[in-house]
Amino acid sequence: MARYIFITGGVVSSLGKGLTSAALGALLQARGYTVRLRKLDPYLNVDPGTMSPFEHGEVFVTDDGAETDLDLGHYERFTGVAARNTDSISSGRVYTNVLEKERRGDYLGKTIQVIPHVTNEIKDFIAIGDDEVDFQLCEIGGTVGDIEALPFFEAIRQFSQDRPRGECIFVHLTLLPYLAASGELKTKPTQHSVKELRSIGIAPDVLVCRSEHPIPDKERAKIGLFCNVRQDSVIPAYDLKSIYEAPMAYHKVGLDQAVLDAFRIAPAPKPDLRRWKDVEDRIHNAEGEVKVAVVGKYTQLEDAYKSIKEALTHGGMANRTKVKLQWVDAELFDKGDPAPYLEGFHAILVPGGFGERGTEGKIKAAQYAREHKIPYLGICLGMQMAVVEAARNVAGIKDAGSEEFDHESGETRFTPVIYHLKEWVQGNYTVKRKLGDDKGGTMRLGAYDATLSEGSNVARIYGDSTLEERHRHRFEVDTKYRDQLEAVGLKFSGMSPDGRLPEIVEWEDHPWFIGVQFHPELKSKPFEPAPLFADFVRAAKEIERLV
Ligand code: GLN
Repeated sequence: MARYIFITGGVVSSLGKGLTSAALGALLQARGYTVRLRKLDPYLNVDPGTMSPFEHGEVFVTDDGAETDLDLGHYERFTGVAARNTDSISSGRVYTNVLEKERRGDYLGKTIQVIPHVTNEIKDFIAIGDDEVDFQLCEIGGTVGDIEALPFFEAIRQFSQDRPRGECIFVHLTLLPYLAASGELKTKPTQHSVKELRSIGIAPDVLVCRSEHPIPDKERAKIGLFCNVRQDSVIPAYDLKSIYEAPMAYHKVGLDQAVLDAFRIAPAPKPDLRRWKDVEDRIHNAEGEVKVAVVGKYTQLEDAYKSIKEALTHGGMANRTKVKLQWVDAELFDKGDPAPYLEGFHAILVPGGFGERGTEGKIKAAQYAREHKIPYLGICLGMQMAVVEAARNVAGIKDAGSEEFDHESGETRFTPVIYHLKEWVQGNYTVKRKLGDDKGGTMRLGAYDATLSEGSNVARIYGDSTLEERHRHRFEVDTKYRDQLEAVGLKFSGMSPDGRLPEIVEWEDHPWFIGVQFHPELKSKPFEPAPLFADFVRAAKEIERLV
């Protein structure tokens, strides 16, 4: 049976619960334990697949094809444990399950209520995989006091009661605001937040207090006293230069020790922190800087490309170099010249995306990279636009485009070199799909293999003849145009094992130009950078040396 750590937040949102959970998971691993991390989200969407990246940030895709919250990306980057479908649930999913059961008659004519039906559904979810790991860490999204989060809080309260005493603990994250006028850290919001939590039957064992200023021992003692938490379990959390410093920083202030104490695990196994020391060393001892332009649509909200940003950082760590990433809005040069916006960068990355807006700019970015021999990494839509560019400007298919855009506008303007998937094989099944199907969960999602051509750049980078990466797309490159494109030098260097779906394209007489239909950024970790990102940054560094 696993031990359970529930992580909640109070006072304000965006305190970094996900990061704290991930760092705590990493620290428990360093002490030799196995962990699994989960996110319980109170919103009513069934999954984040249809939520706008502008609003909610990136959708993180798991190997088993779930579209999940970006916090699962943090969990995976810090622990290396591949996130699964069963690691994320929302109120929408919980209610859907309950209502489906009700319709099926599973509840034998009972009146369906939040307690016990909804809370039982949540508790069953929390207990999935109970005997697989030493610790299950469950983060509750939102903030204590949110109306929609109440069933989750009630469920974790009940869960801890159902379990043998001492097998569940509660970690609560709060904020200590600083009043410059009086030069004081204020503890009252934290006291209120804990009071709120206790009023619904949850007494935190550990308090993690975010603060921009040092928290004096006197204040820690005061918080402990007023919140009924031991002083050494009031853990300060200060701002960090890099999120990857979090495990070491939390270890130094005693978070993992406080958690083990709360479980009465003594003596605590000694931690092996070499992995995180190495990560810190790479952050602090980086030489030089490469400038990478990320040409996208959702550039106002950094979280929309969270994993790309992180994977570039990891690529930098692999090369002991800093990566300066600049978001460039593709729409700026939809109609104009991209040169003023792209000059001076050592590499260009065009990430995934949906819809036509900004795609002419992305096509121009691919053209600019091809013609100026600048390293280019095109991911998903970024690959598709590189193919359109090649088709239009090199292979002479002047009106090449993607079926996605014609479908969206209801016009027929393009020769669809990118067309929609009609069916594909997933495991032992053939999945069939029409364009008009629901938007939710109708994509080619999750991990698929690709077979790499011998002697290709990508085979060298992966050091292998196959790879497995995660996908999230509806459209794909039409193999009908393969011969025509290869004849002008755009090689299809990675295909699905059945040879039907193009996975990778690369220009043969270019130092580094690769487009991939999958998302290599999703599996990248600071201690195990995605090969494509590590090599992309290496190539950028070479350009930087030349100029
Ligand atoms: N919109 C494209 C498709 O659906 C690309 C998707 C993506 O970049 N993730 O195929």
